[in-house]
Amino acid sequence: MPSKLSVKYFQMRWVAICLGLIGVLSDAVAQSPRIVRLKDGPAHREDRILIVPKQGRSAMVNTLHARHKARLKKSFPGMGNIQVIELPPGVSAAEMVARYRQSGEVESADLDVVLTACAQPNDPRVANGDQWHLNNFGQSGGVFDADMDAVEAWSNLNSASNVIVAVVDSGLRVTHQDIAANLWVNPGEIRGNGIDDDGNGAIDDVHGLNSTGPTPSGNLTDYFGHGTHVAGILGAVGNNALGVSGVAWSTRLMTCRFLDNFGNGYASDLIECLNYARTNGAKVVNCSFETPGPINTALSNAFWNLREAGVVVVAAAGNTGLDTDLAPRYPACFAIDNIISVMASSRSDTYLGYNYGATTIDLAAPGFDILSTYYRSDSDYYLMSGTSMATPCVAGAAALILAKFPHLTAQQVVNRVLGTVDKVPDFSGKCVTGGRLNLARALSGGFTIFPGTYAWIPTNGMTSLTLTDNGVSGARPLGFSFGYTGKEYTNLYVGANGLVGFLNLSLSASSNTNLPLSTIPNAILCPFWDDLNPAGGGQVWFGTMGTAPNRYAVVSWVEVPHKLSASTKFTFQIILYENENVRFQYAKVNSGNSQYAQGVSATIGLEDFMGGVGTKYSFMGSPSVVTNGQAILFIPNGNPGVEPSIEYVSPVGSGGSHLRVNGVPGERCVVQVSPDLVTWSDVATNLIPDDGVLPISDLATAGPPNRFYRAVIRP
Ligand code: CA
Ligand code: CA
Ligand code: CA
Repeated sequence: MPSKLSVKYFQMRWVAICLGLIGVLSDAVAQSPRIVRLKDGPAHREDRILIVPKQGRSAMVNTLHARHKARLKKSFPGMGNIQVIELPPGVSAAEMVARYRQSGEVESADLDVVLTACAQPNDPRVANGDQWHLNNFGQSGGVFDADMDAVEAWSNLNSASNVIVAVVDSGLRVTHQDIAANLWVNPGEIRGNGIDDDGNGAIDDVHGLNSTGPTPSGNLTDYFGHGTHVAGILGAVGNNALGVSGVAWSTRLMTCRFLDNFGNGYASDLIECLNYARTNGAKVVNCSFETPGPINTALSNAFWNLREAGVVVVAAAGNTGLDTDLAPRYPACFAIDNIISVMASSRSDTYLGYNYGATTIDLAAPGFDILSTYYRSDSDYYLMSGTSMATPCVAGAAALILAKFPHLTAQQVVNRVLGTVDKVPDFSGKCVTGGRLNLARALSGGFTIFPGTYAWIPTNGMTSLTLTDNGVSGARPLGFSFGYTGKEYTNLYVGANGLVGFLNLSLSASSNTNLPLSTIPNAILCPFWDDLNPAGGGQVWFGTMGTAPNRYAVVSWVEVPHKLSASTKFTFQIILYENENVRFQYAKVNSGNSQYAQGVSATIGLEDFMGGVGTKYSFMGSPSVVTNGQAILFIPNGNPGVEPSIEYVSPVGSGGSHLRVNGVPGERCVVQVSPDLVTWSDVATNLIPDDGVLPISDLATAGPPNRFYRAVIRP
């Protein structure tokens, strides 16, 4: 990026008015850097710049340093070879940036800009501080379910105890009662012995790094509170009967302190923190701070190097009410695919007036009146607002996703977060997804495989699909919204080769692959993906049946031959239930050529929308084959194990009361009856079948219902 700095701008510099205050109160006092702000740019230090030497030119660059009486303070070979250069007193950093750029010896030269925390402490009342962002039941004027569905998600997974998350911020109160148990511990460092045991340049960096001093240290003390608040939102200890709960109940919080006592910090110290997080195994980095443009190449390089290391970065949009498409904020607006940028949502799922950007901000997350841990005592809690608070909601989600699906790449974690938002009208046109974080959906995608009950659904009343060899049907309306791997679908495409899918991409593939595989086709369900040929015989049927909320869609392949063996014919079907369960059934798969029979050359299983999460029953006959009369049931992990519901199917008559229980298949359900809602007795016990619907008849009643019913699960 060419320099926009000029002498004119240089003359307009002004010293930040808070400089004197920093001198008094900050522990960064030792450096007392002179802070300067250029027109249209962030404040920066006058005594440092950031450069990247061109390859093979380090000798020339050293000569350049000498000529300018500058000194190499620190270099980061693992971060794109960024160098922090200390300037002599009395020179202008902007002028030196221009000189280094003009020298032709550097890839980039940048100001050491100031980044600022994106939160404002507000009303310190904690008493009514329900953690609405986790579970919104309409308290304090909020809107029911305008939350991130954390409670729903926690039934699936609440611990990311193996995932190291770096909170790059103002430090942390490491002794806080709701924090202490979730600290990352540096395995190479011995606590309190005054020795840099692991030789990384920091003494006693047991839980993280402080880069704000003259030399890096392990003193993480938070004098601003922002870092402790952000860390608590992300990973305060859950289920410990104290205070608050983080989005992740347990995680490994690494603290990297670069913000000072007023929430400001320098790019050079940030880069030191990012390098520390990268080299010490952080998989998620939380960045609840920002700086305006112009784009800073050193910072951009630093975040690019986190991408190369497979680290997910979650960054705040900023709070100044700007459209970041026009006035970008960094790191949120770096166009790097491991960065998730976050705006804030209210307790009513509305826009809060903070920064937004239709193309530069990815999603919204709760960011107003958020209750979390604070720094003044070990039992301190506080309400704060801002995109700083929204960001750790997403970082916590990323940690849980990595705990659940450890094989995912950083990009796949990003896609999972962005692909599973709740669309919210107020965020349409304000962020890329137009939606708010939904943790429950972000954690969905995996299924557990159970043996199902075989009960072939006849093709009577279904529509016959005319499919060519490798053909794909048009969009077939399901008749209901089918939740699958965190997304909702209303149309289905049927592929001739024994698979169905929700995206009309490569469903014609005759060469079946292992699952999961990010290559298309994705968002597929494969009862028998092989090289089949409906044009050579047999028929494929599609139909939707049942009544809400127990509708189901069925696709059946009947006597469809294998492409390479016309006499090897298969009859099987897939059933998609409205309650999100999936069942495969095999009527005739055993006969014919043994190279193809029983699915020994097929793919059988499910795959999510990005090909990142799959549930494989078998691939090429391994680990198992299918056989005539077999059913396979797939139940989504974390499918809320809610109490079964019960409803009347028909008015009672001489035949008694006819009821329907809706529940989770395979659970033992007892239907009980009561005359007074006080005493209950059992009337029926049965397993809930695969479709989740258990019909019950209470023949003891006649006439209008004068009894109350309920259904309970009994092991
Ligand atoms: Ca050390
Ligand atoms: Ca030590
Ligand atoms: Ca795939």
